[in-house]
Amino acid sequence: MLKDEISIPSILKIESGVTAHIGDYLSNAGITQVTILFGNGLTAMFGDTVFDSFERAGVKVLHHQEMDTVDFKDITDLAFELPNKTQAVIGMGGGKVIDAAKYIGYILRIPFISVPTSSSSDGFSSSSASLIVNGHRKSLPAKMAYGILVDTDVIKSAPVRFLYSGVGDMVAKISSTYDWQHEEDMGYDEVNDFAFMIAKKAANSFVRTPFESINEDLFLKELLDSLAMSGIANEIAGSSAPTSGSEHLISHALDQLLEHPQLHGIQVGIATYIMCRICDHRWKRIDTVFTKTGFWDYCATLDLKVKDFSDAIDMAPSVKPHRHTYLHEEKYRELAKALLTSDERLIAILH
Ligand SMILES: [Zn+2]
Repeated sequence: MLKDEISIPSILKIESGVTAHIGDYLSNAGITQVTILFGNGLTAMFGDTVFDSFERAGVKVLHHQEMDTVDFKDITDLAFELPNKTQAVIGMGGGKVIDAAKYIGYILRIPFISVPTSSSSDGFSSSSASLIVNGHRKSLPAKMAYGILVDTDVIKSAPVRFLYSGVGDMVAKISSTYDWQHEEDMGYDEVNDFAFMIAKKAANSFVRTPFESINEDLFLKELLDSLAMSGIANEIAGSSAPTSGSEHLISHALDQLLEHPQLHGIQVGIATYIMCRICDHRWKRIDTVFTKTGFWDYCATLDLKVKDFSDAIDMAPSVKPHRHTYLHEEKYRELAKALLTSDERLIAILH
């Protein structure tokens, strides 16, 4: 797909203490009248700090509320009820409120400011929004954030499972780029070289970061920077192909099959290992990262079933029938299913 215009965030801050300075970042960019949406329960947690920073910087809050829905209708209704003078819409919280604010920014054609409070996926910097349309989850085109503001202190205080989810979603770029190259080789798509490079470099930078503990600032910063870069790879490509391949199809299938799916990046991470193992592509590196971060140990505490993954592998190609990842070929589906009960890492986490 050719794109005339590529948006990149004008404001990008990923560091300690960002929350107390949100007002300054906005007013420096000429934004002085805003609507802010918080995730459930987050007004009590961050409201005082954020509103104080707005007041000091002369930023007026025209509307604020908590939002716990990604229903298309709720979001569009809210968008058209917002005060006319709203110059920017801020989403602060997890994936849901980020997607809601992103979509509101898109339909009102105003800047969207992304303030994620966990590192669970690359959604905070992607230009698509995952919403519920007529009862079904759909990925809709939206817009790239005008600002990405991430407070590493806040990320650090989130439950560790969100960190593992981010790790899984990040290593996924190793299999997604491999799938994308395969699609080009098979004549199904054309790789955008620049987007490909960004996604690959983001993953490489992350998996090569030396660390002793996952709570180290350098490790968190690398993870978040890399996730932010991934979202931009999608923007450049004009599709999610650089960052979402067969491993994401398995996760999307699990979301549809299970009543209680795991966090996005947990499912994606396990699926990445499966795909890279059967393609014999950099799986040792992934295994090292998963072992050293504690990702595997965390997975072992979950109630993960061989049958669910096996069903998801079968279902994967039908999730995106127009694509041609490795999983769209029967040979690789069979290899993936066989691996579930023959690989020692997978045996340890699946039952
Ligand atoms: Zn993802």
